[in-house]
Amino acid sequence: MFDYLIVGAGFAGSVLAERLATQSHKKVLIIDKRNHIGGNTYDYYDEHGILVHKYGPHIFHTNSFEVFSYLSKFTQWRQYEHCVLASVDGQLVPIPINQNTINCLYGLNLNSEEVAEFYNNRAEKRTIIKTSEDVVINAVGKELYEKFFKGYSKKQWGIDPSELDASVTARVPTRTNKDNRYFTDTYQSMPLHGYTKLFESMLSHPGIKIMLNTDYKDVIDIIPHKKLIYTGPVDDYFNNCYGKLPYRSIDFKFETFDTECFQPTGTVNYPNNHAYTRITEFKYLTGQTHHKTSIVYEYPTAEGDPYYPIPCPENNNMYRKYKLLADTLPNVYFTGRLGTYKYYNMDQVVAQSLALFKKLSTGETKEVNGHKGELIKIENKISDDRNRIYKS
Ligand SMILES: Cc1cc2nc3c(=O)[nH]c(=O)nc-3n(C[C@H](O)[C@H](O)[C@H](O)COP(=O)(O)OP(=O)(O)OC[C@H]3O[C@@H](n4cnc5c(N)ncnc54)[C@H](O)[C@@H]3O)c2cc1C
Repeated sequence: MFDYLIVGAGFAGSVLAERLATQSHKKVLIIDKRNHIGGNTYDYYDEHGILVHKYGPHIFHTNSFEVFSYLSKFTQWRQYEHCVLASVDGQLVPIPINQNTINCLYGLNLNSEEVAEFYNNRAEKRTIIKTSEDVVINAVGKELYEKFFKGYSKKQWGIDPSELDASVTARVPTRTNKDNRYFTDTYQSMPLHGYTKLFESMLSHPGIKIMLNTDYKDVIDIIPHKKLIYTGPVDDYFNNCYGKLPYRSIDFKFETFDTECFQPTGTVNYPNNHAYTRITEFKYLTGQTHHKTSIVYEYPTAEGDPYYPIPCPENNNMYRKYKLLADTLPNVYFTGRLGTYKYYNMDQVVAQSLALFKKLSTGETKEVNGHKGELIKIENKISDDRNRIYKS
């Protein structure tokens, strides 16, 4: 009998597996339908011997000492501050927009105060900031919004920024100084030997068993366990009973060149041309030296693996219904980017799992809502579906 069955071997599931096994001496089984651990952060050496990220570039950054010191148990770090350029009006200029961006783009020589004035003169102040479009136009006006954000967001999310939550573009600030770094967090580092090695170290404990290439639905009824931690898509758990929560996916196209360097920085964004949103060259991120170089193009799509929950009022409302349902299950815990339908970074997911572990380890029981009739109906449907899987 396992104390915990954990669905998903990404950060959300693996942190909990590690904590429960090492700190609470629980017997844990972690299941993933993919053929590897690490979830979306999985990295591997490609056929040319270059370390690449299978599901797109993952740059670790956090302001949380707790998260950084926790992960430091499993890896050494390589300090890395990511810089991004955007291809705009035939030039490559820094993003987030800053003093260098404005001076480069408009052939000016403004100081910090003058750049603030430049933004102010163009900003169209909005009394209510609800959408991604509001955030940017309110801060820097329409022209910069159209050059840097509108096209990129449309490609990335498949909807106009005027329909996207403010939280999306609020993640990319506008600066008046010359700071070209993409992130300003206190801790910005990459795992020295890659993410997969970090996960191997995290999950290497006699109390943790790993089952790959397995959809949990195919085995859940035959593996005895006391509690379930679920980090897959929450709507999938409930058989999409309230409809399918929309996710954005990406097609990754990898290429390797017989040259040491392909582009001038880790990532170049293409807001206004090409079907892809950005190109990332991995050697900048990993620090690897190699006579060849591998890059990845990102083509956003509506279909495919669920990568990005799409934050907008309609989807948030649908999620709230699933959350109410999830809260009715006393021994099932939903966490992670997909389990809670939140556009979380790695460090936020780690923090979320550490917080859940604290609750589990102090014996704090889950607050359970009403909705019993509806719950029984759905549980019956789920178990009918599962029976069908085993019988087929
Ligand atoms: C393209 C891209 C770039 C990103 N870049 C960054 C970045 O630079 N910095 C950053 O901090 N964050 C970044 N993120 C976010 C980061 O990937 C997530 O925060 C983190 O990986 C979420 O971890 P998780 O465990 O919640 O989910 P995941 O890593 O998605 O893990 C969930 C796991 O559950 C498994 N699963 C799902 N359903 C089932 C099932 N039915 N049965 C069995 N297994 C199942 C999946 O196979 C998956 O492995 C990026 C995300 C994407 C998509």
